[in-house]
Amino acid sequence: MATNDPHPADSRSPGSRGPRLDDPIQFIKGVGEKRAVLLRKLGIETAGDLLTFFPRRWEDRSRFARLAEVGDGQSAVFNVRFVSVENRTTRSGKTVTKAVVTDGSASAEITFFNQPWLREKLMKLRSVSVPMYGTVSRDMMGGWYELKEVEWDETALTGGPGNDSLLLGRIVPFYNLTDGLQQNAVRRITRTAIPVLAPLVEEALPDYLLNRRQMPSAQSAYQQIHWPDDEQKRLAARTRLAFEELFLLQVALAVRRKTETLDMPGIAIEVPEGFIDEFEAKLPFRFTSAQKRCLDEIIADMRQPRPMNRLLQGDVGSGKTVVAAAAMLAAARAGYQAAVMAPTEILAEQHATTLRAILKPMGFEVELLTGGITGRRKKDAQDRVALGLSTIVVGTHALIQETVEFRNLGLVVVDEQHRFGVVQRAALRQKASNPDVLVMTATPIPRTLALVVYGDLDVSVINEMPPGRQPITTHFKRSSERRRVYEGIEKLLAQGRQAYIVCPLVEESEKLQTQAVTALYEQLSQRIFPHRRIGLVHGQMSSGEKDSQMDLFRRGETDVLVATTVIEVGVDIPNATVMVVEDADRFGLSQLHQLRGRVGRGSERSFCVLVANPSTDVAERRLKVMTDTQDGFVIAEEDLRLRGPGELWGTKQTGMPSFRIANILEDVPILEEARAEAFTLVADDPNLDRPEHQALKQAVRERFSGTLLAVFS
Ligand code: ADP
Ligand code: MG
Repeated sequence: MATNDPHPADSRSPGSRGPRLDDPIQFIKGVGEKRAVLLRKLGIETAGDLLTFFPRRWEDRSRFARLAEVGDGQSAVFNVRFVSVENRTTRSGKTVTKAVVTDGSASAEITFFNQPWLREKLMKLRSVSVPMYGTVSRDMMGGWYELKEVEWDETALTGGPGNDSLLLGRIVPFYNLTDGLQQNAVRRITRTAIPVLAPLVEEALPDYLLNRRQMPSAQSAYQQIHWPDDEQKRLAARTRLAFEELFLLQVALAVRRKTETLDMPGIAIEVPEGFIDEFEAKLPFRFTSAQKRCLDEIIADMRQPRPMNRLLQGDVGSGKTVVAAAAMLAAARAGYQAAVMAPTEILAEQHATTLRAILKPMGFEVELLTGGITGRRKKDAQDRVALGLSTIVVGTHALIQETVEFRNLGLVVVDEQHRFGVVQRAALRQKASNPDVLVMTATPIPRTLALVVYGDLDVSVINEMPPGRQPITTHFKRSSERRRVYEGIEKLLAQGRQAYIVCPLVEESEKLQTQAVTALYEQLSQRIFPHRRIGLVHGQMSSGEKDSQMDLFRRGETDVLVATTVIEVGVDIPNATVMVVEDADRFGLSQLHQLRGRVGRGSERSFCVLVANPSTDVAERRLKVMTDTQDGFVIAEEDLRLRGPGELWGTKQTGMPSFRIANILEDVPILEEARAEAFTLVADDPNLDRPEHQALKQAVRERFSGTLLAVFS
């Protein structure tokens, strides 16, 4: 190490060498200390950050036109001359400057407020023609058009063609701003800095890919995205940058998939021919064709010697559990253990109950491991699993991962409901000798997002409901109509039906949530339905208490169940035909959809009432989506559109990066192409060892270092 170097590279002032992308932003020409503070507020720390500080929008001011030829509301650049300029004072003492301009084809009036000094300045411009951008209003005022939102650039007066106006005669970028930072100041900075910085970007995409797809280089794309020569180049630049962003992600996913699964020795589970039919014959119903197709895909994977890595996706009630049960039975019969990891204890218990009902008659014991099982019993259970005496093991994610040793684990079913735990899957694989993994999710994930979040999984979709399901009629009511809602509930109770009443969501703490649901419970049991039997269930109860409450409700010994979202998952009580959700606007749409799936499970007509006083249009529209459709995919898409992917899917939690330029709703075609290219490339060069892939490898590594997608360790 050159400790005696008087000028170690990074302490040398940036002025004495060429600029670098990691230079702090204040050293960029035209920035300085003060603006650097403001730019940092916008997330721009380094010169390189400026490159990816993409404009929010652009305005095409390249079109020159004549006033008489431009339609109402249209914008263009006009070459105008000032004809007259007058100042008037309003009654409140403000100055209004009225100017009349002409370009020979027509005249137009422009109004300026509170800039009395403008008069003198504009009068001087009377003899020259000024290029001016503005929006025409053809609403004739005293015989003149009006020009609104005008901007002109005095430097443009001296220039002529080839001038460097930031405002006119070109496509102009608009950046996000912060208090104290002017649009034109940012434009001046990017105008000078981008041409210097863009050439420093190292091209991550291999030449052959750029050529084949006819995409501009990174250097050109960064220039054209900020200061486009024309609309076509701007679009090409945007497409290329969005492609790159999605491509890097897909390469990371492809590499991970390859190293984690395809190349790993797994277990080839022997499943006899006719297994599915035999299993189905023991069920009280027939599989839907979608269930059958998914099960076929799963069994085919299990028979392969490489580890299965599959997502089983299906709306609430589509019958995923029984499909998973069949897969577990197949593993068990071949002599392997199978485990189910559930996100909550309630759900683990629910799975254990369901699986016991199906698998016990077929000769297999189901071991339940939850936090509630302790001491001697826990130790015994763990021993049974370690010795291979228990074949089917159900528990929470944490429990199974942290404390359980298996003898020969062959299949793991990860029930994620709507939490996407990329973490769990990765950790799990280290646990056993590459068991098959089946991830179940009850949230219909929009296809785009599935490719992003689950890009390294194969996907099976149960896109069909078991026959005979009743549609659920959903209403949206304001809280002022609550009395009527309760009257409606009473009518159904009188007919012998049961009701869920879901308490408003309190995200801040479990304790506050418990207080809220308890208060609601007391109000309902004392004032609203004093003559009815009311049950209560919430997350802070012991699992024993929860169980007994659920049992009372299941047996019809309570009429109304007041609950938090703990009833979101797994509960199947056909006689409960109505659900009220209080303050429904606090819930995510997908969450409401899950909740609503608790009714409509029997042959009676079912209802869901969303009570809310939404304070914004978006909130109201979201509720309307719920009353309009029961299609989980539509709801998920809409939720994504209205809330954005980060919030909805917890991208932080899944370790997924957010996108700077790509839009996963609109860029589906780009995403699909990027994915195809990435998977082809990685199939050819799995570790990105070829010389032409070195820059790509470096870019992927930098982009995903420290995330769960970290590859090439
Ligand atoms: P999911 O786990 O997808 O929410 P479940 O597996 O819990 O759905 O199934 C919901 C209900 O439908 C259960 O009572 C289950 O027994 C039943 N069921 C599953 N598949 C079918 C089918 N093909 N025909 C009729 N009922 C079914
Ligand atoms: Mg289920």
